[in-house]
Amino acid sequence: MKVVRRGDEGMPLAQCRAPDCDATKLCKAHIIPQGFARPLSEADGHNKAVRAGGAKPANQPLGPFDLNILCSECDGKLGVFDEYAINFCGSLPASSAAPTGSLYRQSEFNGAIFARAMLAILWRASISVREEWIEITLGRYESIIGNILFGLSNLPDFPEIEIALLRYASADHDARRFIFNPFRIRSGNLNVFSMGLGGFQVLAKIDQRPFHKEMRPYIVNASTSLIVPHVRFEETAEYAFFQSAAQADRRRKA
Ligand SMILES: [Zn+2]
Repeated sequence: MKVVRRGDEGMPLAQCRAPDCDATKLCKAHIIPQGFARPLSEADGHNKAVRAGGAKPANQPLGPFDLNILCSECDGKLGVFDEYAINFCGSLPASSAAPTGSLYRQSEFNGAIFARAMLAILWRASISVREEWIEITLGRYESIIGNILFGLSNLPDFPEIEIALLRYASADHDARRFIFNPFRIRSGNLNVFSMGLGGFQVLAKIDQRPFHKEMRPYIVNASTSLIVPHVRFEETAEYAFFQSAAQADRRRKA
């Protein structure tokens, strides 16, 4: 539910959307933490925002933010999860040309924090009323995930919420360079959100039913090491989208 209070002038007066916070002085809250975009910027260039109509220099190069969702204190609490995920992804080598299905391993990994960082992205997208996030709504899980993120509920009590990872592999692209905003996919009958960042495809299942058997070993909610399959970037829906955007670009320039 999007809560908007009205001030004296009839202007919307937004309130922090974190549970139990009534602050009305809100901050510039990034939906996808800017740290995922920053190391990818070319020294002399722009990050690309990839959209169906073609790639163009991002007008908010460090990613879209929302001025109406969080106070700086609550934004900072989620920032602890964000920082961990940014530092973890930033410490990994460039994506390799490993074949789909071969395993990617990292021994030092805190899945509980990484999973919360991914949920924080979805939750911020869900509470945002900005046009680009309209498709991302968590429904009744919006408040459940908000409570998990702010320490009022425990993630292990909600088996409906599971995060699985795949590592992008490519001979031609360093897939760490691409950020794909979350979108809802239908995986069989399951309600799953997919996003791409830090060289990973992130699958977030928000559904009573379990992940497919093949995906279950790659759920990271409580992992203390990372063992996930490679997926060829060129075989993913994200790549098809990236290509159609590039084609639209070429058509426009022709
Ligand atoms: Zn707050």
